[in-house]
Amino acid sequence: MASSLRTRLRIAATVLGARGFWDALAGRFLWQPPPGAPPGGGILEAPPLGGGGGGWLRGALHVHTCTYSDGAGTIEEVMGAAKAAGVDFVLLTDHNTMRPKADGLEERYAGQTPFLIVGDEITVKGGAFLLALDLPGDFQFAPNQPPQVAIDAILAVGGLPLVSLPDDMKHPWDAWDATGCAGLEALNLSTVAREHINPLSLTWLLLLWRLKGELTVLQALCTRPDASLASWDRLLAQGKKQIGLGALDAHALLKIGKKKHPIPSYENSFRAVTTHVLAETRTPKAIHTAIRAGHCFFAYDCLGEIALDFHATPPPGGGQGAILMGDGAPVGAMLTATGPETALLRLYRAGGGIVAAGKGSLSYRTDRPGAYRIEAYRVGIQRGPLFLGARPWAFTNPIYVK
Ligand SMILES: [Zn+2]
Repeated sequence: MASSLRTRLRIAATVLGARGFWDALAGRFLWQPPPGAPPGGGILEAPPLGGGGGGWLRGALHVHTCTYSDGAGTIEEVMGAAKAAGVDFVLLTDHNTMRPKADGLEERYAGQTPFLIVGDEITVKGGAFLLALDLPGDFQFAPNQPPQVAIDAILAVGGLPLVSLPDDMKHPWDAWDATGCAGLEALNLSTVAREHINPLSLTWLLLLWRLKGELTVLQALCTRPDASLASWDRLLAQGKKQIGLGALDAHALLKIGKKKHPIPSYENSFRAVTTHVLAETRTPKAIHTAIRAGHCFFAYDCLGEIALDFHATPPPGGGQGAILMGDGAPVGAMLTATGPETALLRLYRAGGGIVAAGKGSLSYRTDRPGAYRIEAYRVGIQRGPLFLGARPWAFTNPIYVK
């Protein structure tokens, strides 16, 4: 009897202590306004670019196939799902291989919508992962080596190493003292899902899935990736330039017990989270250039269409020209953000918390150095100063004020 009580108490403690449980109680699952139609505000015009069909392009990042690693679908199925979801490009990152590039897949989809970019997800010693972009097709690297060895190998061929799944429950990154990483997946949909599925939320999510379908479940999972954003801010506060991306880790496979289920589908994953990149042309090269520059933000697109402008205007005599997200600006620069009218915008200074907020737009005159970034929230109901049911919607790369 005593032992059964102890077991029950232990189970209760596990449930109460599970990551995501208090989120669920706080209404992140149980009470939230339905996404409905995209709110007003429309799409902002991107700054004028050269020819080649560039502008703000939406990409589904971090995708696996069954052809080259452990996803459920072929390249054709993945690209078909991406077309149905309306994204501009797919970043394929099968495990420890650049073979899709060597096999000419980037060329096969060149000039099409969506087009394809091939990257690599490298397993490092301890089971964590690095996303490696902008690699040559003949890049080869034996997995399970120390993180620094992998980072150095990527940099040696001119590639771009980023921490994948930085604060994942299953595959956390712990080599934060390694040098040379260019950034991280500040949002990873798989990590968010794992964090927020627990005995309490699972009942609710299964009901939602039965009644409203898979995309509604993904919408319910759209929560602020607190741990990854904290890791990002910690690096930024050290004065490092760090690119933040929104990724999926899409396999279209969910293992429940011994059975694998095709959940969530590629198409719904691609509708849920994308990274919006301001690229000169619709090519892998232009996307890599823009990501390296930090000219991108990432969003829960399934909560509604969103466009975000975040730029800086230098103080008088401080030079001129457009300073975009990802760029540097002098102290005294005016930061301006504009989003949909119904979005609550919050300006964060890494390590300094929220320094300004506004609905639809905000301006802030900087008076000290730091990495300043915007988080946009889709507002549910506003009661005076209270925003009820605000959902995290989009996250920009920082402007680095020096
Ligand atoms: Zn992956």
